[in-house]
Amino acid sequence: MNDPAKSTLTFVAAGRVALGLRRVAKQLESFAVREARLPSERFSATVRMTLQRAPHRSDELADDCIFCKIANKELPADIVFEDDELIAFNDISPQAPTHVLVVPKIHIPTVNDLGDDDAERMGRLVLCAQALAEARGIDGDGYRLILNCNEGGGQTVFHIHLHLLGGRQMRALG
Ligand code: 5GP
Ligand code: ZN
Repeated sequence: MNDPAKSTLTFVAAGRVALGLRRVAKQLESFAVREARLPSERFSATVRMTLQRAPHRSDELADDCIFCKIANKELPADIVFEDDELIAFNDISPQAPTHVLVVPKIHIPTVNDLGDDDAERMGRLVLCAQALAEARGIDGDGYRLILNCNEGGGQTVFHIHLHLLGGRQMRALG
């Protein structure tokens, strides 16, 4: 025989289970969304932290730096372009018919020291190299832009500089 009190209890219990399952499903769903978002959030947080890190450098001319001295006209160089922010000069030991170094005037030792404030400056460095390549007539054939970072990357002068190399066939990397 069906006990009405028992059926009500069973009905209520089933309802609770259904509610509980729905809550669990919702939690799983939001967890899945959170998980899906996590990698990019984590990535952008890391990038943000890196960009906001105070760059290890001084905006003054560094005492013992060759490129600061060239920028400050304390050392001679074959200057091919200059404005308030950048200076470009021929490399003393050219590795190609065109080998120009494009250098920010402020002292930034390596790429590792770049911060958010340098985004435009570094963009201008590339645009300056692009304009020089065009002026030299090597833009059509092509050229190579190099930024070496630290000893492992082949950096020997610790003031950021962009190498513009062109006028000969470059070997493919790798
Ligand atoms: P890195 O090896 O640091 O990427 O490049 C440094 C570059 O600076 C080299 O290609 C080197 O030939 C050049 N260089 C070093 N000293 C002088 C200098 O006194 N004057 C000029 N114009 N280039 C220099
Ligand atoms: Zn310097």
